Amino acid sequence: MNELISINPSNYQQLGSVGTSTLSQIKQKIVLAHRAKRVWQETPIKERIKLLKKVSLEIKSRKQTIALLESREMGMPITEALVDVEGSIDYMNWYFNNAEKYLSPEITFKNKTEIHEVRYEPIGVTALIVPWNFPLANFVWGAVQSLICGNVIVMKHSEEVPLFAKFIEEIMAKQGLPEGVFNMIYGDGNIGWQLVNQDIDLISFTGSTMVGKRLHELAGKKFIKALLELGGSAPGIIFPDSNLNQAVENVCSNRLLNQGQCCDGLKRLIVHESIFKEVVKQLKTIFENKQIGNAENMTTQIGPLVAKRQLELLKLQVKESVNKGARIITGGKSLEEKMGGAFFEPTILTEITPDMRVWKEEVFGPVLPVVKFRTTDEAIKLANDTIYGLGSYLYTSDHKTIDYVTKALKTGMVNVNGTNYVMPFNPFGGYKNSGFGREHGKYGFHELSQIKIIARNR
Ligand code: NAD
Repeated sequence: MNELISINPSNYQQLGSVGTSTLSQIKQKIVLAHRAKRVWQETPIKERIKLLKKVSLEIKSRKQTIALLESREMGMPITEALVDVEGSIDYMNWYFNNAEKYLSPEITFKNKTEIHEVRYEPIGVTALIVPWNFPLANFVWGAVQSLICGNVIVMKHSEEVPLFAKFIEEIMAKQGLPEGVFNMIYGDGNIGWQLVNQDIDLISFTGSTMVGKRLHELAGKKFIKALLELGGSAPGIIFPDSNLNQAVENVCSNRLLNQGQCCDGLKRLIVHESIFKEVVKQLKTIFENKQIGNAENMTTQIGPLVAKRQLELLKLQVKESVNKGARIITGGKSLEEKMGGAFFEPTILTEITPDMRVWKEEVFGPVLPVVKFRTTDEAIKLANDTIYGLGSYLYTSDHKTIDYVTKALKTGMVNVNGTNYVMPFNPFGGYKNSGFGREHGKYGFHELSQIKIIARNR
């Protein structure tokens, strides 16, 4: 593949193309990054932040253009893309305002004769590989905190958003960062594989568990660190004592955000048998009233999936589950023929068994399987019945239940009654097959640093 073709999933029209990086170009970027390593490490943190603030200002001033590009290239409804831009700026501001606090040397011990000091140093040349689902946040979350820590980056954005990646490269090139500190390469998974096989100090990967496992193996062979932010199949549990209307609203907005293409999004719903019928009825009404359309329209609530290949996968996941006995409450069909893009109806399925693809696989699309539970322990068992452990969602007004269930859930993040955990000061990451390491907060700063203790005489 010499070129990455950018396709608008709302109408399958070609938007443009970008040349794929060659092996010699990748090697050249790695050389540049190694040369820049020392310069960037020795650039005072205040100066690094000053340069990166220019990136943030430029992003802010081009908010509409960026949101529109996200909508066109990967199908995120424009209203959500605008939120992605604002959210990404908030994250950057938090990093800028808190970096010095968490990266400054820390005294761990001192007495009359000794002083012990922890220092945070950069890890070095980072291969940063990200997916397409929040094109700006994928860049900001992966690159900005790491650059503040003093790491230098060779980045590969997803092949689904080559024009967006080009745009980011252009913005970064204009801000006066030393040459080689931030480098972009272009291509699919093969190019990503070539990148991680170069002379690098750190793999920072966000994407599927399947690819993450390959990179983990490689990092083991190279004996370097790999930060892995992988897939998820978050459970949501609704107890009868919850605020039902609010819980249902929250489930719907979560499941349908970005057409259900969110790593930590609620993907399996577990409802107490006493309220099951009522919950399904309310879900159905909301799902059926969503405005489906071209992602660029301000009135669109559900856009297309990222690409035809994702639509084909989702069709199979639903079809094979239905063949095994899943019941379609609403939706269930592709809207490709009718609408001319990668659209799929918002879908609710019941009569789910654990062997169905919509239960055991990560489903990236507007499809919600709903199951019943009787006892709290049964709900926990169902919630943890997955290889993933990224997010989870709990709806109840009982504090004892909150305490018991939040302890039992094997996930890195738990949202109780709709209180969002995705905040720049919180750690983001998962248990089990959802990866290793944490992004954001003080956790992210430390994860992206070498930690050195210097114990000396006073
Ligand atoms: P993917 O794993 O197919 O691709 C992710 C990136 O890896 C792309 O840039 C791709 O080109 C590259 N890649 C693919 N094969 C590679 C290889 N062998 N070597 C090196 N790079 C390779 O995932 P996707 O379909 O782009 O994204 C969806 C997945 O990402 C979902 O599983 C989702 O849950 C996950 N995700 C996780 C988080 C998180 O923070 N945990 C955030 C967003 C998305």
